[in-house]
Amino acid sequence: MKKIGILGGMSWPSTIEYYRIINQRVNEALGGNHSAQIILYSVDFAAVEKMQKAGQWEELGSMLALLAKRFLPEADILVIATNTMHKVAEQIEQVSGKKVLHIGDVTACAVKREQLTKVGLLGTRFTMQENFYKDRLRNYEIEVAVPELTEINQVDSIIYDQLVKGVISAEAKNKLENIIRRLVEEKGCQGIILGCTELPLLFDENQEKCCGVPLFHTTNLHAAAAADYALLQSV
Ligand code: GLU
Repeated sequence: MKKIGILGGMSWPSTIEYYRIINQRVNEALGGNHSAQIILYSVDFAAVEKMQKAGQWEELGSMLALLAKRFLPEADILVIATNTMHKVAEQIEQVSGKKVLHIGDVTACAVKREQLTKVGLLGTRFTMQENFYKDRLRNYEIEVAVPELTEINQVDSIIYDQLVKGVISAEAKNKLENIIRRLVEEKGCQGIILGCTELPLLFDENQEKCCGVPLFHTTNLHAAAAADYALLQSV
């Protein structure tokens, strides 16, 4: 089996999910007491958040790349356990010399499997407002809509002020559902990407739909793809 290198801690409540999902999937495939071979480097998220807010993306990219190089040299593939930090995925790939399993590609493939052409994207304000993630989806001919500015700020604050601290509330879920409803009813979205690895924490992982359209849990999709990579390479 191949070894999965995870750059985690962005944030820890979602990194736990990666660890659980990858191991469960490997165990389901191989049976017995099999589990995945994972090397995890978990950062101090406060430092990452500070640099994001200061716009220090180049520095963030080289920091994560150097951490991967130093602490995950045995990994066969890198999993960056956050959507937002895929803004610097290319830099991490180049500097570390490791292939990154891109969360945007994994998500786009799931959207294509459902044969959808237009989706709503929820995530941090970086993911929703900038083009790095939307363009990755557009490469697959998927049209992407995001909420209005006040709603973007609401989702961003749910992520940074609650979910990354491990705070899960019914109120936050309600807010999110209202935003999803408007994306579906007013913007014609045929599916919703939970494009922040903490957002799936607000939903049951088996909840496949919200407001009548498919939900794409990026954490689960990304972790499952990592497990499949490790398994496929195990023969
Ligand atoms: N985990 C989040 C994401 O998937 C946000 C935290 C971060 O900025 O990395 O985008």
